[in-house]
Amino acid sequence: MDFELTAEQRMLRDQVARFVDQEVIPRAPMIDEEERFPEENFRALAEMGLFGITLPPDYGGAGADFLSGVLVMEQLMRGCVSTGNTFGAHTVLCAESLFRNGNEEQRRRFLPDLLSGKKIGALALTEPGAGSDALSLRCRAEKKGDRYRLNGSKTFITNGPIADVVIVYAKTNPEAGPQGISAFIVEDGFSGFTKGRPMKKMGVRGSPTGELFFEDCEVPEENLLGAENRGIEVLMSGLDRERIFWSIAPIGVAQGAFDLAFRYARERIQFGQPIVQFQMIQDILADIATEIQAGRVLAYWAATLAGSGKKVRLEASYAKLFCAEVGVRAVGRAMQVFGGYGFIREYPIERMYRDVKGIEFGAGTNQIQKLIILGELLKKKS
Ligand SMILES: Cc1cc2nc3c(=O)[nH]c(=O)nc-3n(C[C@H](O)[C@H](O)[C@H](O)COP(=O)(O)OP(=O)(O)OC[C@H]3O[C@@H](n4cnc5c(N)ncnc54)[C@H](O)[C@@H]3O)c2cc1C
Repeated sequence: MDFELTAEQRMLRDQVARFVDQEVIPRAPMIDEEERFPEENFRALAEMGLFGITLPPDYGGAGADFLSGVLVMEQLMRGCVSTGNTFGAHTVLCAESLFRNGNEEQRRRFLPDLLSGKKIGALALTEPGAGSDALSLRCRAEKKGDRYRLNGSKTFITNGPIADVVIVYAKTNPEAGPQGISAFIVEDGFSGFTKGRPMKKMGVRGSPTGELFFEDCEVPEENLLGAENRGIEVLMSGLDRERIFWSIAPIGVAQGAFDLAFRYARERIQFGQPIVQFQMIQDILADIATEIQAGRVLAYWAATLAGSGKKVRLEASYAKLFCAEVGVRAVGRAMQVFGGYGFIREYPIERMYRDVKGIEFGAGTNQIQKLIILGELLKKKS
């Protein structure tokens, strides 16, 4: 087992870290305060070629491995969760899925604009009545001639309110259960497709989340992604990668929170000495640092296995569950180091505390990860 990053991976991580320190962190408070899409960061990420980091150069990508994408996500999350969330939904949920499941014509039609940031991507699975039980979705697609007619709605869609290209899951054969679901590429401007306003959220407020509505929405048959009634394969092709991306996300936030708390503890004087001299503060900081490192190792391990083509259902859920719990706990404990100041909105730790909770739900809640873990372990035993 090799625990060292390659020279290329280190270079990429350091390049993104510099961008985060110089541009992303200074903008993060404003983006949260104004609840606005981090447009400048989105443009900069496109210019840096990061939307196609894991995709082949043939389609405008950088051809790096999956762990490299995870390293980018970690750094973005360290500085601004709204930016990281937007990046993840655009690249892993949308562009990567289009690459994996699209035919040549679809890849050529959609990937260049997504990778250059000309268009914004999203993935729409969740519905008001179908959250954790996602496959009970009710959105319906009926074939009429050379088009599908989509009816239904989606909710909680990251980038939804501003998306140009959305991968939408709908039932094409409702009697067939999960085997009757298909995936579609829905484009902004299709008749019968409307986007709701961004939902008001507790955190991750610069990442627009919203409802999508389909009323006799006309989708040409060439926008079917994968085969008809094989949407489950499209979904499953990327779910573990998605989980790994959202594993490193809370670790990135926790690292950002730790860095702030560690600095503050050395600067804040009480009882005549920096509070970092108090053993109870040292206890908090040592625990956070250890948990972050444990989560990071788990996420990198799952990412490396996924990148080598292995099935990582169990490993991805181990990482997703552990890292989500570490993230929320670590940011809460880092906040304690700030005392009352941690509760004041001028201090970034307050935003991180709200934000880290918001990235816990995507790709399955903690309870759902536990169900998957036990299900996989039971399968191994039988
Ligand atoms: C900020 C944000 C961004 C999101 N982005 C997207 C996106 O881009 N695209 C998309 O499709 N979706 C997105 N989602 C939706 C997300 O995937 C769902 O919120 C998630 O799957 C949970 O569904 P739910 O909220 O309906 O909760 P529910 O499924 O109603 O769950 C409620 C509670 O019950 C628990 N529970 C449910 N079933 C079980 C069970 N079998 N055993 C034990 N406990 C259970 C859950 O863990 C949870 O605690 C986003 C959500 C948020 C908050």
